[in-house]
Amino acid sequence: MGLNKKSVDDINVNGKKVLVRCDFNVPLKEGKITDENRLVAALPTIKKLVADGGKIILCSHLGKPKGEPKPELSLAPVAVRLSELLGQEVKFVPSPVVVDDSVKAAVDAMKDGEIVLLENTRYRAEETKNGEAFSKDLASLADVFVNDAFGTAHRAHCSNVGVTQFIDTCAVGYLMQKEIDFLGNAVETPVRPFVAILGGAKVADKLNVISNLLEKCDTLIIGGGMAYTFQKAKGLEVGTSLVDDTKIDYCKEMMEKAEKLGKKLLLPIDTTIAKEFPTPIDAEIEVTSVDADAIPADMMGLDIGPKTAEMYADAVKSAKTVVWNGPMGVFENPILAKGTIAVARALAETDATTIIGGGDSAAAVNQLGFGDKMSHISTGGGASLEFLEGKELPGVAAANDK
Ligand code: AMP
Repeated sequence: MGLNKKSVDDINVNGKKVLVRCDFNVPLKEGKITDENRLVAALPTIKKLVADGGKIILCSHLGKPKGEPKPELSLAPVAVRLSELLGQEVKFVPSPVVVDDSVKAAVDAMKDGEIVLLENTRYRAEETKNGEAFSKDLASLADVFVNDAFGTAHRAHCSNVGVTQFIDTCAVGYLMQKEIDFLGNAVETPVRPFVAILGGAKVADKLNVISNLLEKCDTLIIGGGMAYTFQKAKGLEVGTSLVDDTKIDYCKEMMEKAEKLGKKLLLPIDTTIAKEFPTPIDAEIEVTSVDADAIPADMMGLDIGPKTAEMYADAVKSAKTVVWNGPMGVFENPILAKGTIAVARALAETDATTIIGGGDSAAAVNQLGFGDKMSHISTGGGASLEFLEGKELPGVAAANDK
């Protein structure tokens, strides 16, 4: 499934002002960028537009300043690091309202091939409400718009959707294309067997993903906190594990759906349990099966057990396409990370196409040093999940068709 949207290869930006919406929403600690994957992922599009002789005006949000300037969420450190990564100055043009006369003057003074970066778009309250005034302000800076921010593509905000109403030429960048190609091909035309792995805390966050992926994949693997609602739906004792009692019927439905479609739905057969969550870090843990009342009433499951890890790794080994979103346990605590590590290792070792949905699973894979072993690690957690639900992403839909 190719993306039928105009890309940066289909437009001519020579001598033109190009507003580029990037996803520079990087984690910061005391003003330092602690994970620069999203910056690195944005480079190909920026370099291409520079090489084509455009005047590049970069913009992004960072964190949640909630509509007012918050110095700790300024994009200033991003301008510094981007300049280093590109080997070319990225001039930061800050304004508490993102676009004002001084910013316009700086843009008017740009030469072809130069780059500026605007301040955090969420300094403006209209941004997340897709308000017209800010969309117009942004559009007033440029002749052409390029959206390369996959991480925000599931939101309709001024800087990725509203602005497209006031600029005629709106294309997507290379990162957006790559994300949609990988995720789209995996879901729509997977090389089979296609194994999808879902984990993380809550079933409720992944209802539509479970349902949609069951239709598309051959095997659906469930781990993490969400597995216990499935176990309870099977009538098993889950102790004090994370359970959403309002989703028991839903889990039953999904198990029936899998059966009807002839799909494998794999659930944990053993689990690592502890009395307290999530501390202490050296809590006493035990491994138990999940049979009947094997999990004591006063204990909770916090990771998949070793037999489950082996079973999941075997399923990965037999796959040709694997999509993974969500950790298998409370992987932030090293004693509860074994299941997540086992799954990450299985993905790292296979020749199959391996795609990691963003968020925690991407962080886990990178932390464990398996990042370069994966075919694709998405830069967008929420966006990749909504894509896997089969939803159209507003940020993609807003670009011109080819
Ligand atoms: P999500 O944001 O839905 O992908 O969930 C990620 C979070 O789920 C991580 O912070 C994990 O610590 C947490 N998690 C994974 N497994 C469990 C579990 N068995 N019980 C409670 N939380 C869990």
